[in-house]
Amino acid sequence: MITLGIDIGSTTSKCALLRDGSDILATSLRVGGLGTEGPDEAMQELRESSGIDLSAVDRTIITGYGRNKYEGGDGEVSELTCHALGGRLVFPELRTVIDIGGQDAKVICLSESGRMTNFVMNDKCAAGTGRFLDVMANILRMDVNDFDEVASGSVSPAAISSTCTVFAESEVISQLANGVDRADLVAGICGSVASRVSALARRAGVKPQVCMSGGVAKNGAVRRALEKSLDTEIAFDPRAQYFGAIGAALYAYRQLQQ
Ligand code: ADP
Repeated sequence: MITLGIDIGSTTSKCALLRDGSDILATSLRVGGLGTEGPDEAMQELRESSGIDLSAVDRTIITGYGRNKYEGGDGEVSELTCHALGGRLVFPELRTVIDIGGQDAKVICLSESGRMTNFVMNDKCAAGTGRFLDVMANILRMDVNDFDEVASGSVSPAAISSTCTVFAESEVISQLANGVDRADLVAGICGSVASRVSALARRAGVKPQVCMSGGVAKNGAVRRALEKSLDTEIAFDPRAQYFGAIGAALYAYRQLQQ
């Protein structure tokens, strides 16, 4: 049985194809969420990379920020459920998911059996999300992909005291003008996101095993700063940004089984 999950986020669109609720056959990602070509382009990429005729798909479930407005699936389900399901497929002992996407951050707590017991979310403020990192990357004329490597050269991470993205932006510009080392600035920026999200995680309650999902999971500097702040190991899988789409495909499979 082949199922498809489509995660239409605020920043990117992701797809995942699953065989029999367990084998992740293919994934695809395109920048651009709802209202852009992103979802259709991600589907096209999936067709090409998997070589699978998508008419063979038994069920399609949509999740993410844009799930209610995208036509073309057999149903939709919340991203909280999907990140939990996708994370748990990859890490069967998972109890806490820290999802940092383009516009929000969520911490999802799971019972031993994988049932969601609690969640805390920040979707009101850009600080502590990928948006904060994207704004800072723009000021520094850098790519967020390079943040991890650059931050690893930091000796003394810069303190970013503003909790508001707009004020933090001015703070970074003035630190840059004062000659603060770039590596220290990037490490400080990543540390600032980690400190916002760790406060959220503490509110939710953190139990091991912990993993990250969402695009910011790929930022090793944020991940390490979170590990330090929460004093716990955070599992990483290169498919972390697809956990929502993988979870949606798994949800579709479970519906077919019922
Ligand atoms: P959404 O689901 O809200 O669209 P994603 O989970 O796809 O968001 O995450 C998007 C964010 O991931 C971007 O804002 C960006 O900061 C971050 N990101 C994406 N790729 C990378 C990467 N290679 N390294 C660091 N950060 C990344």
